[in-house]
Amino acid sequence: MAILVTGGAGYIGSHTVLALLQRGDDVVVLDNLSNASQESIRRVEKLAGKSAVFVEGDVLDRACLRDLFAAHQIDAVIHFAALKAVGESTRKPLEYYENNVSGTVVLLEEMRAANVWNFIFSSSATVYGEHAPVPYVETTQIGGTTSPYGTSKLMIEWVLRDFAKAEPQFNTIALRYFNPVGAHESGEIGEDPSGIPNNLLPYIAQVAIGRLPQLGVFGGDYPTPDGTCQRDYIHVMDLAEGHLKALDHLAKNTGYTAYNLGAGKGYSVLEMIKAFEKASGKTIPFEIKPRRAGDLAAFWADASLADRELDWRVSRGIDEMMRDTWNWQSKNPNGFN
Ligand code: NAD
Ligand code: UDP
Repeated sequence: MAILVTGGAGYIGSHTVLALLQRGDDVVVLDNLSNASQESIRRVEKLAGKSAVFVEGDVLDRACLRDLFAAHQIDAVIHFAALKAVGESTRKPLEYYENNVSGTVVLLEEMRAANVWNFIFSSSATVYGEHAPVPYVETTQIGGTTSPYGTSKLMIEWVLRDFAKAEPQFNTIALRYFNPVGAHESGEIGEDPSGIPNNLLPYIAQVAIGRLPQLGVFGGDYPTPDGTCQRDYIHVMDLAEGHLKALDHLAKNTGYTAYNLGAGKGYSVLEMIKAFEKASGKTIPFEIKPRRAGDLAAFWADASLADRELDWRVSRGIDEMMRDTWNWQSKNPNGFN
């Protein structure tokens, strides 16, 4: 039996594929390479000393899914494949709903046809929307999302909830990620955004390597201790390990459950810059800029449910996040190219 990992060539997917291979699971990766390079999978296989099956294809392609489920005995699906740029989603909402929501529905339909019932979904803290009290806890009602990207994640959680109600065999866990950063400690795989990075850490790392001149800090007048936004950053290997724990839990759990995967602590943008400077020995020039539309001042996770029910908690802190980000960026100044 194998695990199907959609979007497995991407940032979080590739780290999770590595963790799966290293614990002995067989893995089939399905990725259309719209935001990734197959080089990530080659490096994962080298690190693991074990191969994954790679299928270049789209989750919207029924024929491709049918062939895949016919050719491989799949026990569970981890579904990372999605478009994820918040700003772009406001300009291209239909593309985001088609790829993320329709893509998930097609995948679920083909899973049902193939009698595959275990499903882990990449959700996001963004489903809590703008009015949820901090720290975010799973009992808070989700909704009030501020972008089509966020709404696509919310809609998929509702699809999963309803499908699990209708189909008692269906077992699903939505993992609500907070802010994934860092890289595998080997420095062989990491986050390789195309174009100018949207996210904080890849941006800082590219300033450090000299690809970008300086960082713009979006807003210095938030109601936070130093005026900059606070987020709950989580090391990508801790996140990858959360998927392994969730897979184990699917064996006992039925229905739909959502878990926060975060560290449970907020760091400000200025604290992140300082920590990166300490780990890299580089100075990061920055300038305070106007607030970015849609940003919330501060949020972090209550991650106690995952601790109790999945036996999962983070084991890497901010120093490891920065060390591994810098290790990856300095070894691969141009990413996988
Ligand atoms: P990523 O872009 O690196 O990985 C997504 C992968 O999916 C890419 O390899 C891309 O080529 C592939 N893909 C996209 N659409 C596809 C399709 N229709 N068919 C097949 N493959 C397709 O992104 P990531 O950061 O690794 O994120 C993985 C998942 O986690 C996404 O669902 C994302 O929304 C979610 N998530 C990410 C973050 C974050 O900050 N990185 C936070 C919360 C949730
Ligand atoms: N941020 C910033 N400059 C950048 C990118 C991000 O100041 O170039 C800030 C952003 O305003 C937010 C935090 O860094 O407060 C994390 O942003 P990111 O886009 O990485 O993640 P988000 O929390 O928006 O998903």
